[in-house]
Amino acid sequence: MIAMKFGGTSVGEPKAIRRVAEIISSRRARGPAVVVSAVAKTTDELVSLSDAAANANRDRADDLIGWILERHIKLIADLGLDGDTSLSQALSQASEDLTRLRQRFEEAGKVEPMLMDLCLSTGEFLSSHILVSYLNSQDIQAVWVDAREAIVTDSRFGSARPLFSESRRLACRLFEPILEEGKVPVMQGFVGADVRGRTTTFGRGGSDYSATFLGALLEAKSVEIWTDVDGVLTADPSLVPEAKRIRRMTFEEASELAYFGARVLHPSTLRPAIERGIPVSVLNSMKPEVEGTKITCSSEGDRGGEATVKSIAYKEGLSVLNITSTRMLMAYGFLSSIFRIFNQLETPVDLVATSEVSVSVTVDTCEKIDQIVNVLSEFSEVEVQHGKAIVCCVGEDICRKPGMPAQVFGELEGIRITLISQGASRINISFVINESDLSDVVNRLHRKFFSGPSGEGAPV
Ligand code: ASP
Ligand code: MG
Repeated sequence: MIAMKFGGTSVGEPKAIRRVAEIISSRRARGPAVVVSAVAKTTDELVSLSDAAANANRDRADDLIGWILERHIKLIADLGLDGDTSLSQALSQASEDLTRLRQRFEEAGKVEPMLMDLCLSTGEFLSSHILVSYLNSQDIQAVWVDAREAIVTDSRFGSARPLFSESRRLACRLFEPILEEGKVPVMQGFVGADVRGRTTTFGRGGSDYSATFLGALLEAKSVEIWTDVDGVLTADPSLVPEAKRIRRMTFEEASELAYFGARVLHPSTLRPAIERGIPVSVLNSMKPEVEGTKITCSSEGDRGGEATVKSIAYKEGLSVLNITSTRMLMAYGFLSSIFRIFNQLETPVDLVATSEVSVSVTVDTCEKIDQIVNVLSEFSEVEVQHGKAIVCCVGEDICRKPGMPAQVFGELEGIRITLISQGASRINISFVINESDLSDVVNRLHRKFFSGPSGEGAPV
């Protein structure tokens, strides 16, 4: 079997849903199990609804409920599904649930994460019911599977993590008979339930994770993530309009890119697939004929195995902390005393460079920085620089390729580089620059690595 996930824009309008049905139908022989996100914009509106209700802004909350339901009612009508009674039941249930939740938020007077998850799950509840109904109307026999009965998670509302063995038993029992009958199971993405049966969600963008996790549970041959771009790109197209599709990449490369914000995959999305060695493809539901990006364990067959930069990622909104302590000269324990503080204040560090008496780190610019600086100042001098960005060249084995740093930095004449990191992994050369140079730097590197004869419009 294969797991297929369709994102919010893929189910955002009638035309898109019709295309999704065609795509599913083209995969019938491979036994697809389908995971679906909420209809585009719905989750954002459900977040606003939670806020409005918790702040006793009833008019706004009621408006939002109205808009959300209206959008789905219109979609149902446009798809000619108004006659489906189970769909009308799902709609009335969503309507009742949202009204009840609005009251519970009002009573709580704050956005309780547990209530929020219940509220957000309504989006995927509706979209999955609509897709099931439409598939059935097209003679593709589909069965709704409630994610809350298949995916058991911990109880961290808003960022729950699924539990493999607990889920496996349930998911196999629910999905296997449907697949054996040649029908298509359809499940909400993003949603699960804890051991007490309380609805949880995985964090924004979490439907991708649902798909890879389901794929792992059911030992899928592959996982297909259907979205609204052609695949993973060589750079962010909003900075580099001529960014190209990457044809193949390894799990390691993709995870690195996901972490650095390539806006295609949720950072933890790939983990279940990596653990089981299941290939993941990123595909465009608007252009199903495009081959997409295939992410696998090894890069075999990839440009003849030659180490090459595959993508240029970046992360902005960073601050650099330069931490110096002459007292610590030649002493051990300096690094651990610094990192203990980041640990205590739950602040992730992205990049680190050290010298004998100083350490520089990058962190997301946030309110906690003042507190961190205060504590660090007890035993060191700290200089803070805001407005920084990390640029990260990613490609299997680029760090082992002689001359690669020269190629990267040779392009950056005149650019002030604050920190450089190379060698921590085989696949990543990263450095820190001023945010104001970001677009220039990414474009220069993109021209260097992706233009020329092999680059003209060709996927990498
Ligand atoms: N609907 C959720 C969100 O918008 C989950 C997802 O789309 O993956 O974040
Ligand atoms: Mg998404």
